[in-house]
Amino acid sequence: MLKELIDKFYLDQQRDKNQERFYITDAGKCNRAIFFKFKNAPRKKLEPRILRIFDHGEQFHRNIFNILYRLKIGVTTEIPIPAQEIVSGRADAILCIKNENYVLDIKSINSSVFKSMTGPKEENYYQIQLYLHFFQIKKGIILYIDKDQQEFKEFIVEYNPEICQRLLDNFKVIQKKIESNTVPLVLPDYPKNWQCSYCQFREICDLTDREEVNWLKFKEKIEKEVKAENQNKTQAALDL
Ligand code: SF4
Repeated sequence: MLKELIDKFYLDQQRDKNQERFYITDAGKCNRAIFFKFKNAPRKKLEPRILRIFDHGEQFHRNIFNILYRLKIGVTTEIPIPAQEIVSGRADAILCIKNENYVLDIKSINSSVFKSMTGPKEENYYQIQLYLHFFQIKKGIILYIDKDQQEFKEFIVEYNPEICQRLLDNFKVIQKKIESNTVPLVLPDYPKNWQCSYCQFREICDLTDREEVNWLKFKEKIEKEVKAENQNKTQAALDL
C-alpha cells in the first residue's frame, strides 16, 4: 500500500520533455539516444528503484559539499558552466588545494564496479574534460564513492584540448542530424554496449535499421506500432 504510493510519487515526477540543448552529461553517450531525446521519442520510464538510487546519490553529493566547506577548500559548488550556444552543464564544485584550482566531479557507483576500477569511466572522463574546457581550469578530480561500502577512489585528470574539440564537434554533427531529421547510426557494438542495456529508447531503436534513417518516416512507423499495441491491449481487456 505505502510502497505503491511511494513508487507512484517517483513515477509521476518523470516528465517526458524534448531536450533543447546538449548537456555535458551527453558527452561520450550514444548519438542516436541523444537524437531521440531531442525529438521526444517514446521512451521507457525509469523504474522507481532507479530514481531512488539517483536521489540517494544526490544525498552523497550534499554530504561531500558540506565537508568541502568545512575544510575550506570548496571555492564554489554546483556551478553552471559559462553561457555559450552549444552545451549546458553544472560542475559539482571548483576546489582550491595548495593554491591550485580543480574541477570536482563526484560519482556514486556500486561496489562491484568500484572494486574493478583502475581509472575513470570513459564517459566521466569526457564530461570532466568539458568542464575543464569551459571553466579554463587545467586539472580535475573525479571522486568515486562506493555507495555500499563508503570507500573513495579519486582520479586526477589533465585538460586535453583535442578531446574537447572532438566532443564539441560531435555535438555539432548531432545538431545537424536533428535539423535534417536524420536518425544517427547505432553504436558500433549495439546491442552489446552497456548503454544499450540501460537505454530508455532501446525498444524503438530495435524497430529500425542500424544505419541512418529518416526520422519522419520512422516516427510514422513508431506511431503505428503504438496504435497496434494499444488496440491489442484493449482487445485483451475486453476478452477477459
Ligand atoms: S539502444 Fe543502444 S544504439 Fe540504440 S539508441 Fe539506445 S544506446 Fe543507442
